[in-house]
Amino acid sequence: MLVLTRQRNEIIMIGDDIEIIVVDIRGDKIRLGIDAPLHIPVHRKEVWEAIKREKGDVPGKKSIVEVNEGPKADFRCKECGTIVSLSCAAVNPRCQRCDSRHLEKIS
Ligand SMILES: [Zn+2]
Repeated sequence: MLVLTRQRNEIIMIGDDIEIIVVDIRGDKIRLGIDAPLHIPVHRKEVWEAIKREKGDVPGKKSIVEVNEGPKADFRCKECGTIVSLSCAAVNPRCQRCDSRHLEKIS
């Protein structure tokens, strides 16, 4: 994990599109402002975990089928737009970037 030190009003860039600004620091609480493109979901982790559980996903657990068995096809993630190349036989394929299961086959 990359660990950075920032002061109030200083910014961290993630890629070209995601900005995280330290808005306020009070005691053991910090407030962060996050600017990300709309197609990138941003959640507190506990909320994200609850969403995953609701969808029947186990957070952090990757599908075994992402291993490279058999012929491959390209899929586009409907959530983040990432193109992933997966086995045609993949069961419950997931986006390698955002872990979404909403993939559509494009080839
Ligand atoms: Zn995705």
